[in-house]
Order: sequence, then structure tokens, then C-alpha cells
Amino acid sequence: MRTVAIVGGGFCGTLTAVNLTRLSARPLRILLINDRYPLGRGVAYGTLQPEHLLNVAARNMSAFPDLPSHFVEWLRNRAEFASTPTPNLREEFVPRRVYGDYLLDLIFWQSQPLAGSHQVQIESIEDEVMDLAPSGPGAQLVLRSGASLGADQVVLATGNRAPRALPALAAVQDHPAYRANPWLGGLLPRPDCREDVLLVGTGLTMVDVFLSLRAADWQGTIHAVSRHGLLPLSHFRGGEYPQFPPDGVDTLDLSALVTLMETHCARLRAEGMNPAIVVDKLRPFTQRIWRQLSLSDKQEFLRTYVARWNVTRHRIPAAVAAQVETAQKQDQIRVHRGTVCDARDEGGRLRVSIRGEDGPPRALVVGLVVNCTGPSDSLRVDPSPLFRNLFDRGLVRADELDMGIEVTPHFAAVDEHGAASDFLFAIGPLLRGTLWETTAVPELRAQAHQVAKHLLDDRARTPAEWAQETPANLLEYYI
Ligand SMILES: Cc1cc2nc3c(=O)[nH]c(=O)nc-3n(C[C@H](O)[C@H](O)[C@H](O)COP(=O)(O)OP(=O)(O)OC[C@H]3O[C@@H](n4cnc5c(N)ncnc54)[C@H](O)[C@@H]3O)c2cc1C
Repeated sequence: MRTVAIVGGGFCGTLTAVNLTRLSARPLRILLINDRYPLGRGVAYGTLQPEHLLNVAARNMSAFPDLPSHFVEWLRNRAEFASTPTPNLREEFVPRRVYGDYLLDLIFWQSQPLAGSHQVQIESIEDEVMDLAPSGPGAQLVLRSGASLGADQVVLATGNRAPRALPALAAVQDHPAYRANPWLGGLLPRPDCREDVLLVGTGLTMVDVFLSLRAADWQGTIHAVSRHGLLPLSHFRGGEYPQFPPDGVDTLDLSALVTLMETHCARLRAEGMNPAIVVDKLRPFTQRIWRQLSLSDKQEFLRTYVARWNVTRHRIPAAVAAQVETAQKQDQIRVHRGTVCDARDEGGRLRVSIRGEDGPPRALVVGLVVNCTGPSDSLRVDPSPLFRNLFDRGLVRADELDMGIEVTPHFAAVDEHGAASDFLFAIGPLLRGTLWETTAVPELRAQAHQVAKHLLDDRARTPAEWAQETPANLLEYYI
């Protein structure tokens, strides 16, 4: 029986397994190997805290590109949403743990022997894949436990890396008042709730931690710091703005794009509309725009515009934004623009120095510091054992920005010589340098569906034929 091994059991790995089960017309053995975060839920949907909400409305959270209402229909079967009218349910930002239940439900039912008329088995294995070597037409995987597994094809769905280690906090990395990765173990053990807290980063992870502290009735001041001091913007109901984007938006270079977007933002402001509409309307074109930008334009975007892009593109539910705003007004949270430059122990607390744009660094003495800078961007910096081995073996190569690995349009890993692998594939945040927009469920479900289709399709194709068959932008594929 053909065997497909999937490395990583978060959203991407789980949905690859589920789609393989749905789409396979032949017997198939699927090995779903996952460690660290809970199977199915992964990093994002592993939180059990009810205050952590999805940042995408339910109507756009179906796990399947070909079944757009699937998640809303699933929600409808839950007692707490039974009386919510469907139009309201579609716009809900439900707790992420509920979405985790949805993913576990999918994997549970697809793992049952009676789920399909043909024999497809999903075997979940809790272990870390440490190495992978070509073997015959497929690969041999080595697990941390010492077990060795053979597979005909392998999908890397290893997800987001842990937040990067902050050099300025290196001296206090193991201090009890420091949390290097808030996604693992939350904030436990928590200090006394009267202590002041410093959150390093002001994006979505910071908002998550802020919500957890509020839910714990935190009394101390919550400080949040980032170089730009920008907070994620709030979701809003979009208005009609057919003037954007103009034809050919996906052929522009960075400076033309910036001019175009600034012009339309100014026009929208003048009309009393939210300028973030232009970022939303660009979304179906983002991957295509990214792929045709020059390397220097991509680097310039990452240097100069990425913070503004992120706070506009990755927005938070209005109810959450209102909580942050109220806390700011009540001085429960203070947002600083600056860079953490040093930290040391002070009687069990941490004295942290923050350098602003000018003047000498200021010091904060806090009972808890949390690294909220989000996933590390580079695979090459401190790679996991698996990626160290994949790079050493030349089976993968970093993308041109070193944000992940290079893949072909049908997700085959590109090796050190530039050749597409026959057996090794990758989806999800690993493709960030290649696609840029490869973060949220609307992109990832399309990738999981596409890669499953490719794995099941034995028809030989040339790379040019593959490129022609794969939609230029996987978002278009969904909607
Ligand atoms: C906090 C947070 C909230 C988010 N909220 C939303 C949202 O509301 N809406 C939305 O659309 N998107 C959201 N996203 C974005 C997106 O949905 C997630 O990033 C997505 O779930 C990524 O799934 P994944 O499977 O690629 O990665 P992950 O969930 O990170 O799963 C990867 C899994 O692979 C395992 N793994 C890695 N290496 C190995 C190995 N060598 N061997 C075995 N296992 C391995 C990891 O331990 C992990 O369990 C959020 C992301 C985060 C981080």
C-alpha cells in the first residue's frame, strides 16, 4: 500500500491527511507525525483559553476550499450557537479552541475505518521527525524515539517556528520571570497579579497575552514595546470601493505600489472610509505581486513597510480592539516605541532597559517579561534537527529571503541543485519567502487540498505543465 508521511499535525498537516482521505480512490496509509503542540489544533488552535478568539470571521474559516460553508454548518450543531441567526453566525469571531475542536472532529471522523468506502488509514504518531533520507523512490524517516519509518512521499507541514531568541534577553533566558515562548505552557507559573509586566512585541501574540492577563484580573501595569509601537487594527465592515485595485496591479514594482496605495488610502480617508480596505482588496493578488517583485523590492518591503502591512492585514475583532483601547485609556496597558537593549535580575524581578528613538534608555522593573515577537523568520538560524539534516543532505534549499524553503508551484521541495523533489513536498508557513501570504486558513486550506490532489495524481507532467495547472494565486482557487 502506498504510504504518505506528513511531518507536523497542526492545521496544514491535519488537513492534508483529511483531504487525502476524502480524495483517495485507492488504499492508502497516512502517517501523521506530530510533536510539541496538540495534534490537529497546532500552535494557533491549541489554546484552551476562551478569550483567545479567531481573527477571521467564521464565514471564511471552512477547512475545505470546495465547501465554503463547512465551518459555519459545523458551528450550527453546537448548543451555544443553536439560536444565533445564520447571518450573525457567519460574522462571529469564535474562540480558537472551538476551531481546534472542529479540526479534531475532522481528523477523528476521517480516521474511522467506516469513513470512506475505500481503505485509507490515518496513523497518528506522537514523536519528532529528526531526519529524513532518500530511500528507493521515497524516503526513510528517523524519529526521536529511534523508530524508523518508510514512506513513498513526505509532506513537510512543520508550521511556525517558535519565537526567535532575543539577544538583549539572552542573559535572562532561563530566569523564572521570563517566558521565551508564550505558545507553550501559556504564562504559567504566573507571578503575583500586582506585578508589572513587559510584553516584547505589539502584534497578535501581545494581544493574546494581554487578554489572558485581563482574564486573570491583572492589577499591575502591562507594558508593551516594539520598534514601531503599532497595534493591530480592528476589523470593520468594508464599504464599496470598486476603484481599487486597478488592472495590472500585479505587474507593479514596490515604489509604484506604494504610491498607488497611498493615493487610494488618502482618497478613502477623504471619503470617510477605512483605508484598510485597500489591503483587503489586494489580498487576492498578494501572492502574485510578491512573486514578481525583485529581490531588492522584497527586502525593501521587509525593511520599511512590513510593520504597517502587518497591523493592517492581520486585524483583530472589534470587541478585542475595544478592550485594548479601554485598557489604554485606563492606563492598564502602556505601549512604548523602542527596543529592548538589556535585562538583568533585580531581586527576583527583571530590570529591562528600553532604548527609544532619542534620549538615554529607560528602565522598567517587572515581575514578568514575555517574548511576543511572533514566529522566528529564518530556518537557517538555529534550525531544528530535521531542517539541519535536510539542509546538510541538500534535500531542501532556503528561499531567496531565507524565510523558509523554496518549492515549485506544486509544492515539491527544491534541492540544493535547483531540482524539484519527486517525493518531498512542503506547505504552510515554510513557504513565506516564496508566497508571502501563506499564514491564515484561507490560504492554507487551499494548499492542503492542492498538495493532496498532487500526491494522489500519478500522471507524469513536466514542470511547465504543473505550473500551468496550479493557480497563480491559491486564494483565487478558493473563492
Ligand atoms: C496564535 C495564532 C493565532 C492564529 N489565529 C488565526 C485565525 O484566527 N485565523 C486564521 O485564519 N489563521 C490564524 N493563524 C494562522 C494559521 O491558521 C496558523 O498559523 C496555522 O494554524 C498554521 O498551521 P500549521 O499546521 O502550518 O502549523 P502549526 O500549527 O505550527 O503546526 C505544526 C506542527 O508541526 C509540529 N512539528 C514541527 N516540526 C516537527 C517535526 N520535525 N516532527 C514532528 N512534528 C513537528 C509542531 O510541533 C506543530 O505541532 C494563527 C496563528 C497563530 C500562531
